[in-house]
Amino acid sequence: MTSQNKRVAVIGAGIAGGACAQQLAQSGCSVSVFDKARGVSGRLSTRRTDMAHYDHGAQYFTAQSNEFKAQVRDWQQRGIVAQWQPRVVNPDIQKWFVGTPDMPAIVRYLVKNIALQVNTRIQSVEQVVHDAKTNLSLRDVSPLKAIDIDSKTWQLVTDTGAVYSGFTDVVVAVPPAQAVPLIQNLAPSMVSVLNAVDMLPCWTVMISTSDSVTTALPIDAERVTDHPALVWWARNDSKPGRVKHAGQATWVIQATPDWTLTHLNADPADVIRLLCDAFWRHVGVKTLPNVQQSMAHRWLYSRRHLEPKSTQDCLWAANVRLGVCGDGLIHSRIESAYLSGVHMANAVLS
Ligand SMILES: Cc1cc2nc3c(=O)[nH]c(=O)nc-3n(C[C@H](O)[C@H](O)[C@H](O)COP(=O)(O)OP(=O)(O)OC[C@H]3O[C@@H](n4cnc5c(N)ncnc54)[C@H](O)[C@@H]3O)c2cc1C
Repeated sequence: MTSQNKRVAVIGAGIAGGACAQQLAQSGCSVSVFDKARGVSGRLSTRRTDMAHYDHGAQYFTAQSNEFKAQVRDWQQRGIVAQWQPRVVNPDIQKWFVGTPDMPAIVRYLVKNIALQVNTRIQSVEQVVHDAKTNLSLRDVSPLKAIDIDSKTWQLVTDTGAVYSGFTDVVVAVPPAQAVPLIQNLAPSMVSVLNAVDMLPCWTVMISTSDSVTTALPIDAERVTDHPALVWWARNDSKPGRVKHAGQATWVIQATPDWTLTHLNADPADVIRLLCDAFWRHVGVKTLPNVQQSMAHRWLYSRRHLEPKSTQDCLWAANVRLGVCGDGLIHSRIESAYLSGVHMANAVLS
């Protein structure tokens, strides 16, 4: 089958799904991307309010492989990413990059010109057998049968019962725990790999202030070590293109996985109070500042536990033409998620 004859469904418009979709579309495939959220980008996200914008998912990224370095150079030239040079205590030897004007800019660029359905939660993935004699299409309930390209296709069913059909290939680009229900009857060998992945939760608090005691803090970001509650904080408006109101400081504060697990079902107002108290104490602000806006977001699947790692960064069942990609397989980093999506596309094309 040539690329031009392939109709590929990509479930998930995070950076992995976006990278996969872009690569497939550039190779001539017909691609449709589906995401349950209101917009694209998944965990590479920015919360927007009238008062301020906050990158409340991924904070920044680095490029380690030559493959990704070349990609980042291209994005930089196009103005989609820029280097972020925050004032930190121990500067990293690697360059830090962010999307501009916000983190989702990267995924918006990847999926532009690609058919996209947002607000569309895929509930099941099904094989459909076409009977040439009766000209009927029947749902195939038997798991993992080799696909006869001429007579079997895939269809996606949403949680509202809408059906999208006629796909030759399906790529599932969602976190492992969300991928399992979609593929469990179709690819049992992939399910055991995905079930071994432990994704950690992360409470994230977003606040904005203007008191000089806060705006005058001498550092912009810190990966916090050995703190019972805090793992990271950053002054969001120190990133390129983020200043919305002069004199305002915007902050993103992340809790450790252990603290998040202990407070998993806590009231967001309590989470904001506890993490803000810990943050101001940590940075040496003694008088509680006037907070103009505060919000909390709970990521249930933020980043994977470091071990055990899969040996492959994407999974592909060539006999049924079904694949899974995303950051869950190797490392929860933007670079790994992006490369997983590109390698997934290469598998579909091979
Ligand atoms: C708080 C936090 C901080 C982080 N910090 C960093 C950092 O500083 N640097 C770094 O490199 N990485 C960081 N990461 C990790 C990074 O964000 C991820 O590795 C990367 O964004 C994962 O991309 P992905 O495409 O694999 O998955 P996702 O971004 O999760 O995309 C999956 C998409 O699938 C959609 N979806 C799920 N189920 C369905 C369904 N049934 N139907 C339709 N759509 C569905 C979701 O809505 C989502 O858009 C951080 C992550 C978090 C949460």
